[in-house]
Amino acid sequence: MIAQRVEEFRRQCQIPVDPARRGPVPLDRFFEECDVAHVALRGLTSATIHAYLQAEGIRADALMTSPEPLAGFLFHAGRSKAFINADDILPRRRFTAAHELGHAVLHIGTMSSFQPDTQAALFEADEPKDPIEREANQFAAELLMPEEIVRAREAELVRQYGCCPRSVLTYRLAAELLVSREAMRNRIRSLGVGDDD
Ligand SMILES: [Zn+2]
Repeated sequence: MIAQRVEEFRRQCQIPVDPARRGPVPLDRFFEECDVAHVALRGLTSATIHAYLQAEGIRADALMTSPEPLAGFLFHAGRSKAFINADDILPRRRFTAAHELGHAVLHIGTMSSFQPDTQAALFEADEPKDPIEREANQFAAELLMPEEIVRAREAELVRQYGCCPRSVLTYRLAAELLVSREAMRNRIRSLGVGDDD
């Protein structure tokens, strides 16, 4: 179901998957196309977000401020803003950004104007309990690691070497798509692609 939503989203944004092209999914173009602002802040907490919004002249009185570190945060009163923790390494930042985009595409209308995502919720729990968080993670995985690309790179390895060790495919695709090896490993496993190592 989320896979179809992502396909639809790609069509809306007119950014199709192209396995002939090497390199990461152009996440910034998706942000532009669906008019969500991408804001990277150092030391991301609800308090730093509150200060940012205030400086922009946006009232966010209902936002409870806390010093708990966040990976990401979606604010969607007026134009949506996806806040990303600028201190995280690039593959994490990309995953968080795609996760927040997932909230913006899938959940606006069903959630409040604030959606905070802690580091633990995004990167430490195997499967978040909250279905909304699971859906946003799935959205991020589908968007950043398109099935067509994974299958095309598998076919290349098989053509070249007659086999496709999962660890090699994971390593190559994580580097190409700028995602963490762990995220890539999970995606490859869930697609059932590659040979056991
Ligand atoms: Zn979330």
